[in-house]
Amino acid sequence: MAGPNLRVFVLTLCTLCCASYTGAQGFTAQSPQIATPSADVVKLQGEAIVWLQDLIRINTTNPPGNEIVAAKYIADILKREGIPSEIFESTPGRGFLVARLSATAVPDPSRALLLMAHLDVVGVDKSKWSVDPFAAVMKDGYLYGRGTIDDKGMVIANLAVFISLKRSSARLNRDVIFLAEGDEEAGGEFGMKFAVEKHWDKIAAGFALNEGGHTVLKDGKVQYVGVQATEKVAVNVDVIATGTSGHASIPRKDNPVAHLATAIGKIGAYEAPVQFNSVTHGYFEGIAPLEDEETGKWLQALESPDRADHAARWISNNNPIWNAMLRDTATPTMLQAGIRQNVVPSEARGVLNVRLLPGNQLDPLINKLKQLVNDPQIRFETQPNGGEAAPSSSLESDLYSTIKAVSAQEFAGAPVVPYMSTGATDSARLRMRSVQAYGLDPFPLTEDDLMRMHADDERIPIDSFRKGIQFLDAVVNAFAVTK
Ligand SMILES: [Zn+2]
Repeated sequence: MAGPNLRVFVLTLCTLCCASYTGAQGFTAQSPQIATPSADVVKLQGEAIVWLQDLIRINTTNPPGNEIVAAKYIADILKREGIPSEIFESTPGRGFLVARLSATAVPDPSRALLLMAHLDVVGVDKSKWSVDPFAAVMKDGYLYGRGTIDDKGMVIANLAVFISLKRSSARLNRDVIFLAEGDEEAGGEFGMKFAVEKHWDKIAAGFALNEGGHTVLKDGKVQYVGVQATEKVAVNVDVIATGTSGHASIPRKDNPVAHLATAIGKIGAYEAPVQFNSVTHGYFEGIAPLEDEETGKWLQALESPDRADHAARWISNNNPIWNAMLRDTATPTMLQAGIRQNVVPSEARGVLNVRLLPGNQLDPLINKLKQLVNDPQIRFETQPNGGEAAPSSSLESDLYSTIKAVSAQEFAGAPVVPYMSTGATDSARLRMRSVQAYGLDPFPLTEDDLMRMHADDERIPIDSFRKGIQFLDAVVNAFAVTK
């Protein structure tokens, strides 16, 4: 393994968040290990590619978002299929679209399945792209464009599956709700927060599928399907050093720039203790047999009484994502000090982006950092609007079991492995309301393609897009349709 193994998904980290891969090396829809799609699904896959291209061409870079234009485009498609939808504006030009296929005259939210994805995308540095990021160019078996994998591909896959249920007059055993929301890339105030707080009755569900997982493609084969069941909690903490301001020609020992630098250096080197939860336990156990021998050996030793420390060190040193999954982290991200080259400022500030394991409190970590810094000139201030810890989704629910069964059937026995995102997704807001929400990105992607999320030349292999629709269709049918 050359360098850190980033094959683990990133996730969506939309708030985070290359060997070359050609279509010839990847699988194709005809690959032997892939189940054959029905004629209806094949037709829908073709339509969905056109819809995705259209959606990429609607620029929803956030800010400003402008998600409503995209929502209206989707409303038109649904209307042609005879499916009514509603658009709710959180602020002019922004908001979400929701539509429902009902199983019963009186809805039972506890059974309903929510298919959700976000319409907004992150910005681009156009000069670094080999194609126009908003032209939806097809090239060498790929569709290029901002949002192809995060998250417009998912919007359209959900839409295709939703429409397929309608076309086939499926006998639903639970309501299926389609939600295309916005503002995910900037915290969700005008998207999911608005939807959950102001229009919960429209989206209330017992189960949800969202971004945040990853269908891992390696050597042309789906290695495993990572299903996100929980996520770390983000909070920003200011580190503030104070001292005496004055002429730089007369230095003092209490210079806040020097004190801040020392403190940040200590914090940057700090490693919080290793902790597991049921999701990370299942994850490391699940991927161990799929890794090379050496890595698998250390993954298996992570929770052994005598070799755990050494194993955790080896794992952390070899993979930054795994490191972040094992512990709370406090990452210095910003420094601010000084107004002139010859003026000693009275204050210097840094920002720590803290990511807590779900269930952990901030105070013990801050107390540890204070102890470590051990400097009366330094204080810590927690910024408002930190994330809230949500309970994990169950690894024993009917939906999770369905994903496991369908994954094995669609991808030649590929296992499902639970996953904890190190970044934040909209699923936390749902889990706070007792929704069993799962991150399921159904498109088989290589590490190379996955790493293009939020990066230059974001693209989706067209075969993967088609296959993802087929996989998602099979999951939703198995879960929500009475045969
Ligand atoms: Zn996203």
